[in-house]
Amino acid sequence: METWRLLDTGALPAAENMALDETLLGLKSEERIPHTLRFLQFSNPTVLVGHHQSVEEEVRLDYCHTQGIEINRRLTGGGALYWGRKELGWEIYISKKDPRIPQRIEDLYRRMGEAASQGLRHLGIRAYFRPRNDIEIQGRKISGTGGTELSGAILFQGTVLVDFDVDEMLRALRIPTEKLQDKEIESVKERVTCLKWELGRTPPIQTIKASLTKGFEETFGVRFENKPLTPEEENLFKTKLAHFSSPDYIFKMRDSLPRRKTLSSILKAPGGLIRISIAVDCKTQVINQILITGDFFAYPKRAIFDLESFLKNSKASPSQIREIIRLFFADKKPQIPGVREGHFIQAVEEALQKVDLLPHGFDEEETHHLFPVSKPFREVRRPEVLLLPYCAKELECFYRNQSGCEECGRCTVGDAAQMARSFGMDSITIQNYEDLESTLYKLKHSGVRGFIGSCCEPFYGKHRPDFERIGLSGILVDVERSTCYDLGQEKEALTGRFENQTHLNLSLLQRVLEYCHG
Ligand code: SF4
Ligand code: SF4
Repeated sequence: METWRLLDTGALPAAENMALDETLLGLKSEERIPHTLRFLQFSNPTVLVGHHQSVEEEVRLDYCHTQGIEINRRLTGGGALYWGRKELGWEIYISKKDPRIPQRIEDLYRRMGEAASQGLRHLGIRAYFRPRNDIEIQGRKISGTGGTELSGAILFQGTVLVDFDVDEMLRALRIPTEKLQDKEIESVKERVTCLKWELGRTPPIQTIKASLTKGFEETFGVRFENKPLTPEEENLFKTKLAHFSSPDYIFKMRDSLPRRKTLSSILKAPGGLIRISIAVDCKTQVINQILITGDFFAYPKRAIFDLESFLKNSKASPSQIREIIRLFFADKKPQIPGVREGHFIQAVEEALQKVDLLPHGFDEEETHHLFPVSKPFREVRRPEVLLLPYCAKELECFYRNQSGCEECGRCTVGDAAQMARSFGMDSITIQNYEDLESTLYKLKHSGVRGFIGSCCEPFYGKHRPDFERIGLSGILVDVERSTCYDLGQEKEALTGRFENQTHLNLSLLQRVLEYCHG
């Protein structure tokens, strides 16, 4: 039976783990090392952002610094992870041309996910792969997976939550936890699980490693032999360490562009969230800078940097953008599971549409809080209706859980209703998701041309396909304060049971109404 290497490097600082990942992937791409399963552990609590993410957008930097939580950037895509000392990672380094490796990315995810699930089942838990890239136990996620490739070599990795500290994760990642009550933390706990919660005890780390190893042996029909790093690996690893410890790699590689000078958009594709930030020279209409971030996976990982270079210094016109992105995909053929060229075209065009708002008194910062529905902003003319979310109503208000508002002056919903009247518009309060959908359909069928509404950015990001399916055009204005998404209460919010109060941004709402009625 064929033998692969088992490499157990023990607990290491984040930069050493990342440097080692690149060392092994680089040497595998030159076929200088055997197929390898490595176990990954961190000597300090660590936050790892995905390769294409901005640290500033994903991580609570002050908290991490005061708590000694290390921050670093993975070679692989995906979302930000909090990694406690007890969590365990596994990594497979293998040639892409190995006959056991599926060529379709989706099949590769399945093969690796099923191997790790099989290993976890040896611990006595009912773990199963869930497409696209998770392992779950009865609907609760215990492991996320993802990979990257370099010149014919693949690094595929996954986490196993062993004794997970949800509270610490919520504090370290960008979730405003000041307002998180115990009950709210519970709702986040419902979506994840770990070995300790499933088994009622924490198995010894060597038992977990042996079970995972067995899962990979059974799936790939091989045997693993424990071997250390080679001298060549040790030497290359040392040369890489400074780079993976440097702020240039961790922070600056995907440094956010200044919000006050850029236009942005957010688009949820099946394979992840795409965030675009663009700085445009308004006189020459040329793209000066562009940053594409998100929690998608891109193969090869430099594909996103290349796409940015293609777009930089090009004309900020829709036809030019479309042509550049199409040429890029035809030429480079990147594989980005669940994200197509059309998603990038749409996301960039939507950021650029915001240029139209600047001559009308909106500044760049304000445009980050405006979201188009079904049509560009300039085509939403004389909307007849203002839709207001129940989460902005006062918690004690009689109308909190039913439609209507007496305009008593105790919350921004009443002020917004008065504002709507002054523009000859009706206002309707929306009590839950079903109410929103049926109201939009009714308005559309009664001949209403368009609407202005208010909701939070995550709601827009997630339900945008629903707005587009219904097809009534409009503009949405972001709400202020912690949203149900921030608090992990989106399920409750959909049915009208979110127990926090947001605020409507009245001054921005006023300007949007003036813009549409001007
Ligand atoms: S303004 Fe309307 S929604 Fe707000 S507290 Fe008064 S009646 Fe309730
Ligand atoms: S999703 Fe939550 S916070 Fe956002 S608008 Fe709806 S209820 Fe409010």
